[in-house]
Amino acid sequence: MGLVVQKFGGSSVANTERIKNVATRVISERDRGNQVVVVVSAMGDLTDELIALAHQVGSNPPDREMDMLLTTGEQQSAALLAITLCSMGCPAVSLTGWQSGIMTDSIHCRARITEIKPDRIKEELNQGKVVVVAGYQGISPQGDLTTLGRGGSDTTAVALAAVLKADICDIYTDVDGVFTADPRIVKNASKLDVVSYDEMLELASLGAVVLQPRAVEFAMQHKVKVQVRSSFKLETGTLVMEAEKMENNRVVSGVAHDLNVAKVALFDVPDRPGIARAVFKALADANINVDMIVQAAMRDERNDIAFTITKDDLPRALPVVERVCREIGASGTAYGEDLAKVSIVGSGMMSNPGVAATMFAALADEGINIQMISTSEIKVSCIIAADEIERAVNALHAAFNL
Ligand code: ADP
Ligand code: ASP
Ligand code: MG
Repeated sequence: MGLVVQKFGGSSVANTERIKNVATRVISERDRGNQVVVVVSAMGDLTDELIALAHQVGSNPPDREMDMLLTTGEQQSAALLAITLCSMGCPAVSLTGWQSGIMTDSIHCRARITEIKPDRIKEELNQGKVVVVAGYQGISPQGDLTTLGRGGSDTTAVALAAVLKADICDIYTDVDGVFTADPRIVKNASKLDVVSYDEMLELASLGAVVLQPRAVEFAMQHKVKVQVRSSFKLETGTLVMEAEKMENNRVVSGVAHDLNVAKVALFDVPDRPGIARAVFKALADANINVDMIVQAAMRDERNDIAFTITKDDLPRALPVVERVCREIGASGTAYGEDLAKVSIVGSGMMSNPGVAATMFAALADEGINIQMISTSEIKVSCIIAADEIERAVNALHAAFNL
């Protein structure tokens, strides 16, 4: 008998009709002779609604309390799906993250899974039940509920698939698979049949929200076979797999974009060893991830340093940066939020010169100004103005014949 993990995102469980559709898909997997663990997200936009509710009663809600609130969303859909399955004659039980043995660190709202003790899940499976797990959540060493960051149900699913040694982790969502660009922005984007772990990790990290980056990391580390597919269609989706098993390496596989970008600058920073450490250690200590960093030309032994972070982190970053600015004797700080990042990703890039030049030419032809650039072996990213993002993504999609 095989074991399959199925994950259904918010739009797939948005109402009771859709939950019945999910139940049908679960039952047909079970009828194929497989044990089934299902991971669900909160219904529709419930997580956003709960966040908005919290901000109505407190301008700066404590992260611990946010986790208490947000974990209820996934609990609702897990219980509703288990009830639906039972009513359709399929024995099922719903479990919260902690009942499923999902242990995390104690960083609320963006906790990382540290260990999974799947005994309860195995016990229930052995009793012939479908196990429905509330996604996006776990429990801290202090015994508090935690959440895994937005989109975290993907990570719950892949991590469970890894620890249960599932045959496959199917991620059911509102698109047919992973596309060459966000199909909401590029109308003629095409579905990829396969994508490598490395490419998927870059795409996800660079803004393709179809999979949470942590989920791809787990899949890569534990060689979990992941398929992204539609909840509403029976066709196969996109397989995420090892590059060595893929037939051909595309030069560019996809274009990703991210509007959750803010830029922070420090002016007239003294030019001496230890300054970059002072700035970026303070940000790291505050748990703020820095993405691109640019240090501009030196004059009179002074530099300007600019870097990008997510917009979500900006309110926490600004006081830190202002403090460091005073400590190191810089002349001032500035920030901008009307920015976006556009990236091209492809594992064939490293052996093909001229890819970056083609990207810059496509943006220049559209009259789009590039504010920052960063590259790795398999991606090139540019920071541009937010209101130019749709034109940029479409121009790059066309320039690389995707
Ligand atoms: P779910 O609620 O199922 O987790 P998400 O909204 O998190 O769904 O992810 C699916 C969405 O990801 C799609 O609706 C699509 O707009 C977006 N997306 C962004 N980039 C891509 C891409 N390259 N391929 C497919 N979908 C993408
Ligand atoms: N409900 C959570 C979110 O909206 C987790 C998820 O859907 O994966 O981010
Ligand atoms: Mg998602």
